[in-house]
Amino acid sequence: MGLLPIIEIPDPLLRAQSAPVESVGDDIQKLIQDMFATMYAAPGIGLAAVQVAIPKRLLVIDLQEEEDEAGEPIRDPHVFINPEIVHSSDARKVYNEGCLSIPEQYAEIERPDIVTARWIDEKGLEREGEFGGLMSVCLQHEVDHLNGVLFIDHLSRLKRDMVVKKVLKARKERDKAAIL
Ligand code: ZN
Repeated sequence: MGLLPIIEIPDPLLRAQSAPVESVGDDIQKLIQDMFATMYAAPGIGLAAVQVAIPKRLLVIDLQEEEDEAGEPIRDPHVFINPEIVHSSDARKVYNEGCLSIPEQYAEIERPDIVTARWIDEKGLEREGEFGGLMSVCLQHEVDHLNGVLFIDHLSRLKRDMVVKKVLKARKERDKAAIL
């Protein structure tokens, strides 16, 4: 398993429409494994393939909400290939979101509370399911990535520009600094 570099704003690839996965072959299986390894190492709870510079409609999620007796997160990996949100509830909910491609920035984002999705799993089987809570938030955030949409796009232009500026400033400082 290999770790893949995660791209960050303002990389234009984050604005691309990802292409459907044609078949779930060995290359996709390898990508899924590498994406989980990269997501766990980051650490994050969701990752879209485009975030590792592969614009395919594939995303992985592991909320890691439960811990074992040693306090280690219990893994609960989910793979969504060519996911589509086919229904969204009228009821909405606000959640504090972040993104591995927008480092260290968080914002309250309002989204539909409950969504129904259709997708293909890692075995190539067609699936459908209804999601609420953090899973719903995460799935909507990651599906947005496949369409070139970032969580900051759900903010006002003023707030969005502020977040982008902060990320660029932090990166500039990091590049200039002598890290000893
Ligand atoms: Zn993200």
